[in-house]
Amino acid sequence: MKLLLIGIQGAGKSTQGNLLSKELNLPYLSSGHIFREMTKEKTKIGRMLKETLNSGALVPDDLTLQIVLAYLKKPEYKDGFILDGFPRTEPQAEAFNGEIDKVAYIKVSDKEALWRISGRNDFREDETLQAIRKRIGLFHTVTEPVVDYYRQQGKLFEVDGEQSVEQVFHDIVKAIKE
Ligand code: AMP
Repeated sequence: MKLLLIGIQGAGKSTQGNLLSKELNLPYLSSGHIFREMTKEKTKIGRMLKETLNSGALVPDDLTLQIVLAYLKKPEYKDGFILDGFPRTEPQAEAFNGEIDKVAYIKVSDKEALWRISGRNDFREDETLQAIRKRIGLFHTVTEPVVDYYRQQGKLFEVDGEQSVEQVFHDIVKAIKE
């Protein structure tokens, strides 16, 4: 099973991704996590990524594709994975075509997402209010076409992300097994 999780920041993708990883015995991979690790590198690309992530902008498609596709070639992802944060633009989805079995779109309102993120205790450098607003705005303009792309392929199902963690998890598992 190659499962993609889509939703705005604060929708609960990483929480669900980790739960699903245990339930389905599949590795969980987050493109945001890969990039955050790379921002620690004292290289030109590390510095560039740090600036990009802290601003809330997206990493350019060519670089994203190069990095994430190289990750997915590793043997541990051969039999399936749970992917969070990629593809996030139409060019990324097209370049990655055919690789996904199902897409869970975890829906929460912008207001609920902002409320959740502002209540988190684990502060992250790229989680300033300005960067979060930018990321949510980019979701609507740049990632919603990806939602439509997978919907048209009949791979997408929607889950109400404003329910309890357990209920969201239950709904995703049920939709996968249908
Ligand atoms: P996330 O943890 O998914 O919110 O990702 C954190 C940041 O990593 C984003 O704000 C982007 O700067 C970058 N990023 C993650 N995934 C992608 C992607 N598929 N395309 C472009 N940038 C990405």
